[in-house]
Amino acid sequence: MTTKQKRTKEGKTSESIKNLALESLFSSIDMGKTGKITPPQFWKELKSGGILEDDPRLSEVRESFIKVLGSSKKGIDLELFTETIQHSALVNRGLKGELVIPDFSSFCEEIVSIFNDVKSNMSGSVANYIPQLARVNPKQFAVSICTIDGQRFSYGDVNKNFCLQSTCKPINYCIAHEELGEEKVHKHIGREPSGRSFNEMALNNDGLPHNPLINAGAIMCTSLIKNDSPIADRFDKVIKTWTDLSGGVEPSFNNSVYLSERQTSDRNFALAYFMRENNAFPENTDLIETLEFYFQCCSIEVKSSSMASVAATLANGGVNPLTGKKVFSAGTSKNCLSLMNSCGMYDFSGEYAFKIGFPAKSGVSGAMLIVIPNVMGICVWSPNLDELGNSVRGVEFSKKLGERFNFHNYDSLINNNEKLDPRKSKYENRIDNVIGLVYAASFGDIDEIKKIEARGIDLNSSDYDGRTALHLAVSEGQTEVVEYLLLRNVNVQAKDRWGGTPMEDAKRSNHSNIYTLLEQHIAK
Ligand code: GLU
Repeated sequence: MTTKQKRTKEGKTSESIKNLALESLFSSIDMGKTGKITPPQFWKELKSGGILEDDPRLSEVRESFIKVLGSSKKGIDLELFTETIQHSALVNRGLKGELVIPDFSSFCEEIVSIFNDVKSNMSGSVANYIPQLARVNPKQFAVSICTIDGQRFSYGDVNKNFCLQSTCKPINYCIAHEELGEEKVHKHIGREPSGRSFNEMALNNDGLPHNPLINAGAIMCTSLIKNDSPIADRFDKVIKTWTDLSGGVEPSFNNSVYLSERQTSDRNFALAYFMRENNAFPENTDLIETLEFYFQCCSIEVKSSSMASVAATLANGGVNPLTGKKVFSAGTSKNCLSLMNSCGMYDFSGEYAFKIGFPAKSGVSGAMLIVIPNVMGICVWSPNLDELGNSVRGVEFSKKLGERFNFHNYDSLINNNEKLDPRKSKYENRIDNVIGLVYAASFGDIDEIKKIEARGIDLNSSDYDGRTALHLAVSEGQTEVVEYLLLRNVNVQAKDRWGGTPMEDAKRSNHSNIYTLLEQHIAK
């Protein structure tokens, strides 16, 4: 017998316990108790955890269903179900709620509620420097999520394409960084916020563009990508990277946007000449080709779901969650996120980093690429822009997201129970305080009890076994805590799940002084 199969007290092997658990999981999906679940039921169950049927990681599962079930209506029996779970770690974790957002459907409900709150905000106006953007319907609004485990959700105008505009900038930076490394890239570009507008005619004290996320720096980054290759290959490299970042979905290209960008590009030309005058470009850079390449990158189009997958890849240290493909190194992703954090939101970058506190990059198409490191990528697309060039709804959505969830870079410093942690299940979020309370009581930590009390937690709250702070303090002989709780008039007669009261605990654990305290309190 393997160690895994060691016999437990009840005489069952751990293997058979596992099988029992799988059986109950199966019957929780097989609501009608038919012994079979249909493939649509199976996919629906996975979808509620965020794993979609077209997930590239599930091709073997789809194939095996087709092979075993064919076109018959036989359904998935326990044997096939068990086999599937054993072969696919994703199905296993997805069905058991073990992915990074365990309660994905509740999280999505919150996202939809934020979306609906923000939807009525029609202030701002669409970018009008080119007719192709000026003509976009400003009512459109889409939000997509992709977690680092590839849990996906999209809502709103999710089938519409929009052009990348400035959201191409962080990715071009990553491509150049991946190819040349940090040192070589930053020989040509700084990494300070410029404090000026995105297309300002200004270079830093070294005669270099301030950072890769304003126009001058983005033009410079574009010049660095596969510098000695034919231009077609360089563009292919960008498209291939966006495809990999999007989990295998190829982006499209809007030629009219490109032609318009090229026609209205005096400022970008001026910036490029200014940088050439300062010898900022690598040797042999073809200026016109570089600018055209930059305009082409701005004119690539995606849907919100793809942009969320791109953001999720950055959140996941450069590995696309849907394919497992390493697109960028962790170091490249880290540097890119640092810059997005300090420079990603035009002249609102400092305020965004301060108040909202997660890395983001916006573009004048109304697109926003948002990264919650180690958790998820988010895309918000809504074309109306504020006076700084950021999507109005995108910024409002970010604010509300940051108010509801503990996503700010430094939220972990604050014990903030008003914000939800979606990495915990809804019960974990609620019971954290209660468990903290009963533990604090058992360890005699009055200060911690006072803090938890100040957060509005009822001192009579009990753990899963009905054990209150008083039960624990009495059992562990924490006299001071008992005195404090009595002062607070907690329920002395509280019963745990076995019917036990604090008095009985005091007797059983021979804490006669505490027993007397309780007696006196009751007599009062
Ligand atoms: N194509 C635009 C430009 O370079 C991009 C602007 C933006 O999204 O910030 O002017």
